[in-house]
Amino acid sequence: MEFDRGRLERFFLKVVKQEPDECWEWKGCRRGNGYGGFWNNSKQIYAHRFSWLVHHGSIPEGKLVLHKCNNKGCVNPNHLYLGDYSDNMMDALLANPPLHLCARVREERRQRRIHG
Ligand SMILES: [Zn+2]
Repeated sequence: MEFDRGRLERFFLKVVKQEPDECWEWKGCRRGNGYGGFWNNSKQIYAHRFSWLVHHGSIPEGKLVLHKCNNKGCVNPNHLYLGDYSDNMMDALLANPPLHLCARVREERRQRRIHG
């Protein structure tokens, strides 16, 4: 899969790149379930799935991108692997979650800051 340079730059601006074996934390917005969200072609997808697409090319139909490191916010391609729904029931449940709008998350954070 090809991505234009601008989109890749936008993605990596939000990644705290560490050593290849360390977690690369997603700095962008998070979905309500803790996974990073990234706007790709006016569609929001999981940041770790986008990372997989960038580094590995494609996600076979019906496959999930799972974390070896159990860190939902990690987008290090070395920490990701493809699995089936049966490999991880939690991820299966999260495969098609309702869209959590980042604006709402930001608003909640803002409210928490104001009210301590
Ligand atoms: Zn990781």
